Amino acid sequence: MVPTISVVVPCFNEEEAIPIFLAETQKVLNSLNVSYEFIFVDDGSTDNTLNVLAELTQKDSSVHYLSFSRNFGKEAGLYAGLSKAIGDYITVMDADLQDPPALLPEMLAAIQQEGYDCAATRRVTRKNEPPIRSFFARMFYKLMGLFSDVPVVDGARDFRLMTRCYKDAVLSVMERCRFSKGIFPWVGFKTKWFSYENIARVAGTTKWSFWKLFLYAIDGIIGFSTKPLAFSAMAGVLSLILALGLIIFIAARRIFFGDPVPGWASLVCFITFFSGLQLFSLGICGLYIAKIYTEVKKRPLYIIRAEK
Ligand code: UDP
Ligand code: MG
Repeated sequence: MVPTISVVVPCFNEEEAIPIFLAETQKVLNSLNVSYEFIFVDDGSTDNTLNVLAELTQKDSSVHYLSFSRNFGKEAGLYAGLSKAIGDYITVMDADLQDPPALLPEMLAAIQQEGYDCAATRRVTRKNEPPIRSFFARMFYKLMGLFSDVPVVDGARDFRLMTRCYKDAVLSVMERCRFSKGIFPWVGFKTKWFSYENIARVAGTTKWSFWKLFLYAIDGIIGFSTKPLAFSAMAGVLSLILALGLIIFIAARRIFFGDPVPGWASLVCFITFFSGLQLFSLGICGLYIAKIYTEVKKRPLYIIRAEK
């Protein structure tokens, strides 16, 4: 029997890109000895995405969709799509053709013939991207390398082909604040990496604002490391040692040289510096508490409004 590939595609306002994506990907899949299903996840789109999907499901029995009651974010879309996928192999792809379907045959060969559990992809260039965004992306990967407990590969995409066992492992990670770039390496298994040059979107615009990316980066660091907490504790200890040294120095100067305590400027500097440090540390603790709060509420990751 030929194996089935499930293609999971999170979509947010992708009315133009979806038909092009479907045609391109089907072309590649038809050249392989596999059957396939497409699972599009409409993440609360405000354009015509849902109608486009409904039309495609009527024309093509390999196309299925889930539609969320509102925008829950790409991570929720991924989880929903993976939960619905029944294939032997599952791939996760963006709707804008920035994840080249032409790589799928090689990725499948890595799993079927070379014994890998997952074929993952990374971009090695960032052309077609605003330089300021590339700069912050690089900073993010540096920070992740420094802080994170799991290896997060620079330029790693969510575009992956995985075995059902790998997919089940990803789904068994139950946290609400999901950060796939960390969850994928966290589950382990044998992964083969494929590199490619950045490709421009086929249609539409990016759904990520700088602010959304910034929050996503914070999610990643908080979700996969407790080092910021250790860092704030260390900063506390160091400032305590500094303060003790200063106390001894000032007391000694008073006793041996009888100096009156000069100036208030240095005092103001110290007070502002240490109150800043305290607020910063409190903020770090606050971020972790916010995550605990979100996790304990156990709200569903998404709500489905329509399914086919
Ligand atoms: N996406 C989504 N929900 C969102 C934002 C994005 O499902 O809230 C989807 C989007 O439709 C696309 C994929 O996630 O298929 C990647 O988004 P995008 O191409 O905008 O990101 P970029 O490639 O610019 O990082
Ligand atoms: Mg994209």
